[in-house]
Amino acid sequence: MKRRDFMKASIATAGATLIPLKAVYAWEDKERVDVDSGQAQGLEYVEESPVEGEYCRNCIHAVGDLEKGWVGCNLFPNKAVAADGWCNVWAAR
Ligand code: SF4
Repeated sequence: MKRRDFMKASIATAGATLIPLKAVYAWEDKERVDVDSGQAQGLEYVEESPVEGEYCRNCIHAVGDLEKGWVGCNLFPNKAVAADGWCNVWAAR
């Protein structure tokens, strides 16, 4: 296989791999944090921030596409938090 052909094949394979990964990280489709759970209550997590300018979308612990309505949070593995939400460990990103 020529080097150019190898590179084309590698890029095509990488592209095919990225599509499912993107689907996995669609936080909008993940289970959402239950605001009544013990952890959420302990962190005072709410889906509408009571603090002007402090939202999950601009918190250092948030992950994923921060332009979406629901995002990931390092404190709640595999569950989505509201992008407009907030908790008592919010920290500016
Ligand atoms: S740590 Fe709190 S404020 Fe920050 S993203 Fe997670 S739930 Fe939202």
